[in-house]
Amino acid sequence: MIKLHDKFFKPFISAQEIDDAVTKLVDEIVADVGDEIPVFVGILNGSFMLTSDFVKKYPKPCEVTFIKLASYEGLKSSEDIQRLIGLTQDLTDRTVIVLEDIIDSGNTLHEVHRIFKNENVKALKIATLFYKPEAYDKDFKIHYIGLEIPNKFIVGYGLDYDGLGRDIPEVYQIMTIQHMTNLVLFGPPGAGKGTQANFLKDKYDLIHISTGDVFRYNIKNETALGMLAKSYMDKGDLVPDQVTIDMLSAEVDKNSDAKGFIFDGFPRTEAQAEALEKVMAEKDSVINAMIALEVDDEVLVKRLLERGKTSGRPDDADESIIRNRIKEYYNKTAILKNYYTAQNKYYGVDGVGSIEEITERLCAVIDKL
Ligand code: AMP
Repeated sequence: MIKLHDKFFKPFISAQEIDDAVTKLVDEIVADVGDEIPVFVGILNGSFMLTSDFVKKYPKPCEVTFIKLASYEGLKSSEDIQRLIGLTQDLTDRTVIVLEDIIDSGNTLHEVHRIFKNENVKALKIATLFYKPEAYDKDFKIHYIGLEIPNKFIVGYGLDYDGLGRDIPEVYQIMTIQHMTNLVLFGPPGAGKGTQANFLKDKYDLIHISTGDVFRYNIKNETALGMLAKSYMDKGDLVPDQVTIDMLSAEVDKNSDAKGFIFDGFPRTEAQAEALEKVMAEKDSVINAMIALEVDDEVLVKRLLERGKTSGRPDDADESIIRNRIKEYYNKTAILKNYYTAQNKYYGVDGVGSIEEITERLCAVIDKL
């Protein structure tokens, strides 16, 4: 995710996908133009990157020129289109191919046709890298299209938001941030995450996802995922990242109307934290806070052995497995404190005291978010 001025944008089209779309445009155009020398006309400012990449790939001789137009003011396609300037060359009987970075409303095309009306060109063709079919309301033919995209504001690869973003080699899409509360409840095994999550989910109307619980549910039901996870869990090791990430992402998708989530036991590695950011970005949302319950190791071991007497969890019954789980936490998971601290999202809470006291401490943090 990136921030330009006051808005957030999420990755949308990769540099590779853009490159493939440019290649597709080149292939289609060279097939039509053959050995004739076309004049490619880039429309500034947006199409400077496309024009450059396009002509580098174009396998035959061609001419390149630019005309300039500023059609966007901020987010909305401006009604008050500025005129095109800079067409100085004689284009009589030439095949002219206009290279546009993006066509949305089609207002610019109107202006393109106006400027070429009296030029006596042999053919005027329009090529665009991006095309928004939902926004286009004109009748001008668009001859070559790189990629069709939804009607959402994008930046990068020549396209800007109030001057910023043109230099980015990929394309980002605007995020209309949803007002969700997404919390990561953090802390070593036995810190009380599950207990506290139960109170918090009711109080704030959030969906509680405990990856440990989902794994245990799958083990109980003898699913393929359960069988896979069991061998790791029984030893107190972490289940491999990709398995856990896919499962978490499916759990989030099941709750499309949620007002927010409490993630308990996830993320446990940096790869999982990055994956969670992507899952949230797909919902136009973010993780608001990581709230960590801080508890001493020896208190944890005592609590878990106590819980093991009734929980039926094999990984709570044996002190060496419990110590391995705590070790896994410090080896692999505790580094996430730095990850969220760097984003100013880390909140440590003393996890020793009565359940009610700890709930109060957590609520004090959440209410301030
Ligand atoms: P928990 O109930 O959170 O203590 O998790 C119990 C066990 O499930 C852990 O010791 C791991 O084997 C597995 N597990 C739960 N969440 C994750 C995760 N995010 N990544 C990898 N393994 C996990």
